[in-house]
Amino acid sequence: MKTWMKKLVEQFDMDWGNNSDNPSSAGKAAPMLTEDRATLLYILDTYNKHLFEIQGHQVRKVRAKLDTFAKELVQPDSDATEKTLFRLRQFISSYRIDEYTYVQNTFDDFKRIIWDFADHLSEEAHIEDSAQGDINQSLEHLREAVESNSIEELRARSREFIDFYLHHQNADNERRSKRMESIKKNLTTVKKQLMEANQTMRRDHLTGAHNRKSYDEQVRRYLQLHDIDKDPMTLIILDIDFFKKVNDAYGHDIGDFVLQECVRLLQESFSREEDFIARLGGEEFGVILPGCNAESAIKMAEEAMARIRKEVFVHDKLEIRFTVSMGIAEIHANESADSWYKRADEALYESKQTGRNKYTLAKPTSIKRVA
Ligand code: GH3
Ligand code: MG
Ligand code: MG
Repeated sequence: MKTWMKKLVEQFDMDWGNNSDNPSSAGKAAPMLTEDRATLLYILDTYNKHLFEIQGHQVRKVRAKLDTFAKELVQPDSDATEKTLFRLRQFISSYRIDEYTYVQNTFDDFKRIIWDFADHLSEEAHIEDSAQGDINQSLEHLREAVESNSIEELRARSREFIDFYLHHQNADNERRSKRMESIKKNLTTVKKQLMEANQTMRRDHLTGAHNRKSYDEQVRRYLQLHDIDKDPMTLIILDIDFFKKVNDAYGHDIGDFVLQECVRLLQESFSREEDFIARLGGEEFGVILPGCNAESAIKMAEEAMARIRKEVFVHDKLEIRFTVSMGIAEIHANESADSWYKRADEALYESKQTGRNKYTLAKPTSIKRVA
């Protein structure tokens, strides 16, 4: 027996001596085989080694069947061999048909998936711009490959398309993140502009001090806080003395300049973060001093007045100076914003009436705020 045939028989790993009907095969030795039969066994063995799971044929069961065929084929009993060969032909032809159908169906499923995928993507691609020309072309190639029925073609085109698509997606992601970046930047600008607009709405255009609207809001906020912490708080209302004369003597522009300088000097004098300076109208200003009782507010007021008195502006060789008069009112428990302002304003009036360039402490009030 040729070597390949011996090897083949050996690898069947069968107990050849088990067959009691066949005394010629007694013992452990493999039986003698003709080359035709050995070739048949070889084919069965090759099949057996490369079985794969297909519908209706479990690998384990097919293997057992092929082993039985192989075993029967090595028996030299001619009656049994004829039957075995008949069953083997039947089995192989029907098994091969099932195998073919399974592979064909799998390929068809695969083509259908690729087709749906291509269809879906082309719909998406249509919505977007013409820069997608190359991806569309690749998609077209993929479609042709699906129709061509060649798995090699399909494999190559799928790979080509995936490469295109991934490349496109990367570029798209980059574009998208750049777009997001610019949107974010725009949003920041808009936010800043809104904040500035909000600030502008609350500022007096000429002097940059808070305006009347802002003062009203701030007083409300500070009064709410005061209700909680009961800390002292003082309001100064001040007015530039004889401001009309400044306008008359030097012109409106110089008057404007004096208003701006007045605010600058007030900001230097009342410079704590919580100090709130507002232009209430014309040349009248309000300064809210949270955490200050009348006594410490008077000290700050005196300093501010001294600073203002000291300031000299020269215009056309003329020296311009100005002074202010003040009314100072410390908040009372449960006092309303109106009452607080009114007392400070009355004190200011008192200062004006009694010589200007001075402060007056407001009288206490009996008016109570209704909570
Ligand atoms: P008093 O000491 O009694 O306060 O006298 P006064 O002259 O300061 O007060 P009065 O109310 O008679 O005059 C205020 C002037 O302020 C009149 C108005 O033309 C001027 N004025 C109001 N707003 C502005 C402004 O924005 N710019 C300029 N330049 N003048 C203004
Ligand atoms: Mg005035
Ligand atoms: Mg005035």
